[in-house]
Amino acid sequence: MSPEFNLIKQYFTRPTNHTLLGVGDDAALVQTQVGMQLAISADMLVSGTHFFADTDAYKLGWKSLAVNISDMAAMGAQPKWATLAIALPAIDEKWLAAFSQGFFACADTFNVDLIGGDTTRGPLTISVQIMGEAGVGKSLRRDHAKVGDQIWVSGELGTAALALNALMDKLTLDEKQLETYRKSLEQPEPRVALGLALRDIANSAIDISDGLLSDLGHILEQSEVSAEIYLNDIPCNEYVSSHLHEEPVQKMLLAGGDDYELCFTAPIEMQYKIKELSKQLSLKLTHIGHIIPQKDGASKVVVSDDNGNIIEIKETGFDHFA
Ligand code: ADP
Ligand code: MG
Repeated sequence: MSPEFNLIKQYFTRPTNHTLLGVGDDAALVQTQVGMQLAISADMLVSGTHFFADTDAYKLGWKSLAVNISDMAAMGAQPKWATLAIALPAIDEKWLAAFSQGFFACADTFNVDLIGGDTTRGPLTISVQIMGEAGVGKSLRRDHAKVGDQIWVSGELGTAALALNALMDKLTLDEKQLETYRKSLEQPEPRVALGLALRDIANSAIDISDGLLSDLGHILEQSEVSAEIYLNDIPCNEYVSSHLHEEPVQKMLLAGGDDYELCFTAPIEMQYKIKELSKQLSLKLTHIGHIIPQKDGASKVVVSDDNGNIIEIKETGFDHFA
């Protein structure tokens, strides 16, 4: 067998749970359940752009699938199938073993089958496509937010950006803090159960990959509305909350990417259901503001602090071409 096929067989071929034909043929075959739609999305991770070249391979494997699963969560879809296209500079058995272990650990956690892909030589690049099932007319979209909706976020924001800044020596955390916070950056937990539960609750949703202001901004633009949010209500870790008067820390909270929490909007009468859901999932869900009408045809997020002062943040999130 050629080295390429050996590699695919050894590292990327595992038994599947809900697939008719997986890795090994010219294409995979899957069957959606009757009455379900297929939700499809892809995310690419490029060495040096999305991760440090020396990132732990296990964590990279986890993250490359997790960020894709997060898109399914944000749609209210059940993730089921993934393909993996990978460019490798060379065959490094140790690296491949760790990478595939991390990838499959995430796949097992969220019951996703790896059903195919492509393997080539090149600068380290990982491209994953994810497919999931969504109920007809039940997906969580970006364009359905309504004036009067409350804006909510899951978990805590700013943690991944805090860890990234510490790893880049832009600030100092003690060892224990760094160990806790870097998990958000390196092994995000996509909010699949939340996304599924929100199908009957939320009007709109997005996952926060580029930063709250930027991602909430997508909901606003596509829904043709604006938003008011309260800085001090945004859930965050102890470090961020105790340094919230510092501008760079405000930026981590408002514009830091990579947290993969969900931001969603829901009618005010849903708040009790949302609080119940939070208990049920043991996941913090926090009301951070509300949707208001657009002014002069433009969408805007107005951020104010406890004293009613308006906070201005210039960069709202990460943009590869900005
Ligand atoms: P083809 O020559 O038909 O394009 P490939 O040699 O690219 O086939 O791949 C052989 C099989 O292995 C296919 O089923 C493909 O989907 C699968 N495959 C290739 N690379 C990967 C990978 N990195 N992860 C999972 N499956 C893969
Ligand atoms: Mg091929």
